Amino acid sequence: MSSVSKGRAVRPPKTLIAGNWKMNGTRKDLSQVRALRKVSASAAVDIAICPPATLLGAMREAVRGSKISLGGQDCHPQTHGAHTGDISAEMMKGEGAKYVIVGHSERRSDHGENNKTVASKVVAAHRAGLVAIMCLGETLAERKKGDALKVIGQQLRGSLPKGVSSKNTVIAYEPVWAIGTGLTPTSQEIAQAHAHLRRALVRLCGTDGHKFRILYGGSVKPDNATEILALPNVNGALVGGASLKAKDFGAIIKAGA
Ligand code: PEP
Repeated sequence: MSSVSKGRAVRPPKTLIAGNWKMNGTRKDLSQVRALRKVSASAAVDIAICPPATLLGAMREAVRGSKISLGGQDCHPQTHGAHTGDISAEMMKGEGAKYVIVGHSERRSDHGENNKTVASKVVAAHRAGLVAIMCLGETLAERKKGDALKVIGQQLRGSLPKGVSSKNTVIAYEPVWAIGTGLTPTSQEIAQAHAHLRRALVRLCGTDGHKFRILYGGSVKPDNATEILALPNVNGALVGGASLKAKDFGAIIKAGA
C-alpha cells in the first residue's frame, strides 16, 4: 500500500512475504518448499524463506531456479572466530542467503539482545551483502500503558546503524504479544504503527524512507492475510507458524499478489 510524500502518493515498495521457520524443520520438511514452487512462479510478490542454519544448504537446492529467496536467522556481528554456536552473515551469504532476520523479539528476550547488539548485526548483514530484516515490536504491557508507538520508535532509531537504506534493510513490525499466539492487533492499530514507522524512516533517511518495506508479523494466517496486506504502509508479512505448511504459506503469498 502507498505512502505519501508532500501530498503526493509514492509508489509502494514491492510486497515481500517472508517465512521464518525458527527452530523447526529437518530435510523431510523441504517437501513443503518444493510444493511452493508452482504458486511462487506466478506470484507478483517477492518471497523468502528463512530456515534454521542446518537447512540453508539443502534449502538452497530446494529453491534453486524458483522465485523463492533464501534467508538466515540471526548472525554474529563478527565475520569469524571463537564464538561457539554462532554463525556469521558471511557464512549465510556463502550458503546462498539474500536476507537475514535480526532483532527478532525471541532473540531480544531469549538472548538479551538490545538495540545496540541488533544494530551491530544489521551492520554485519550489510558488510556481507545481505538484506537485514530488522524486527521490532512492543510487549502487551507496553501497549496497555499506551507506549506502543514510543517503544517501536525508540527500537527503530536504536537498532538502525548509519548507512541503512531501503535497499539493504527491511523493517518488520511484530508486536511481541501477537507472535505465535493467534492474537493480532486491530487493522487500525497495525496501520497506526506502520504509519508511525514510515514517518520515523523518512525523518532518518529522507525520501528513501518512503521506499522501505515495512512488514507486519504476528499470527498472520491465510484468513487474515488479505486484510492485513491491504493496509496502508504494510508492504508484506513476516510469517512464523503459517510458513511451515505449503498450503498456508501459499495462500498468504496469493493474498499478497
Ligand atoms: C515470527 O516469529 O516472526 C512470527 C511472526 O510468528 P507467527 O507468525 O507464528 O506469529
